[in-house]
Amino acid sequence: MTTDSTLRFGAQTDEVTSLLRIVNLVRTGEATTRPEIGKVTGLGRGVVSQRVDQAIQIGFLGDGEFGASSGGRAPRTLRFRAEQGRIVICALGAAHMRVGVAALDGDILEHTHRTWDIAQGPEKTIDAVMSLIDDVLKKDPKVPVWGVAVGLPGPVDFASGQPVAPPIMPGWNAYDVRTPFEERFNAPVWVDNDSNLLALGERARRRDSLADLIYCKIGSGVGAGLLSKGRIHRGANGAAGDIGHVRVSDSDVQCRCGKTGCLEAVAGGWALVRDAEQAIHEGTNSSLGPLVKKGALSLEEITLAAQAGDALAIALIQKSARVAGETISALVNMFNPGVIVIGGAMGSAGEVFLAEVRQRVYELSLPLATRDLTITLSVNDEREPLRGGAELAREQLFDVTFPRWFAEGRPSPERAAVPA
Ligand SMILES: [Zn+2]
Repeated sequence: MTTDSTLRFGAQTDEVTSLLRIVNLVRTGEATTRPEIGKVTGLGRGVVSQRVDQAIQIGFLGDGEFGASSGGRAPRTLRFRAEQGRIVICALGAAHMRVGVAALDGDILEHTHRTWDIAQGPEKTIDAVMSLIDDVLKKDPKVPVWGVAVGLPGPVDFASGQPVAPPIMPGWNAYDVRTPFEERFNAPVWVDNDSNLLALGERARRRDSLADLIYCKIGSGVGAGLLSKGRIHRGANGAAGDIGHVRVSDSDVQCRCGKTGCLEAVAGGWALVRDAEQAIHEGTNSSLGPLVKKGALSLEEITLAAQAGDALAIALIQKSARVAGETISALVNMFNPGVIVIGGAMGSAGEVFLAEVRQRVYELSLPLATRDLTITLSVNDEREPLRGGAELAREQLFDVTFPRWFAEGRPSPERAAVPA
């Protein structure tokens, strides 16, 4: 009896393994016709045909166009049915939230956003996110959600999906972010730091699956997402890339994390606002004066003023760039990226910021580490974090969840959505 069921399970495993392989070959475009699949997998014609029929029957693959003929009858191409499932993405910032829905190929179908103070705590915030998700899913409520990606503006333990002592998110420490989404959608949920999402979005935009890239997000806070050969480097606990709280030289200003002399306490958006206010109170002439009086100064306003030639704004942004450049050069020496992307609100300062960072990095880094280095600004598109979230969910879904679903012998979206 035991032997019997073991054998049956073994046979089924072979079958689902080749089925998964075929679905993935078509999905990634490595092999899109039956003869190509045979060539790549080494499976016989009959087996390929049987597995492809199975994949079509359970809804993963569909028939596409006829491919190029090599003399005889042109083989029919197959396509992965990206429209059969949805990925929900929630990108939370300190002061706003964005929500989107993507097809399984990462194409963003719908998105929306609203201002929101993340300091309102996890329960209220997640309620607000859920109601935005309802809005974006309204258009086609029948398509099942296959995965959910959540980006948070603080350190996240990726394995548990819990924020860890996030400096600007009171009430979120060790909060179980994953469960409410799992319960709502009955689908796998991944929670990650927002800089990691941005780095993955950049990988997708560049179509560079093997990118060695650092995405530096410089907004109110400062963080970085590290890609090594296309994979996010999260470190042992998910803290990798949290450069905002690296100590910089010659500074003892108080940081909001409780330490002193952190990068973001000198170069982050809130630090620049603090310094601008102080300079203006001390009598410095600047176009930012009226905003300071109203108490409405923000990093965005400072970058706009710098673009318009305001001397104080330019000086503040250059100072931020010099200090950030110092920390980035340490990363360059250690990590040897091919590309550094500067994003976040500071990206709008453009060349004023970029030129100074470049100079600092080339000055302080090893020649070999900067030989082929590109330092560039992000594309400044509000959908960036959503694309990154879709990328995260796709990566996890196809690399981790898919094999499990297939191994459990339930490779159909409907059945897959039912918990084991
Ligand atoms: Zn700090």
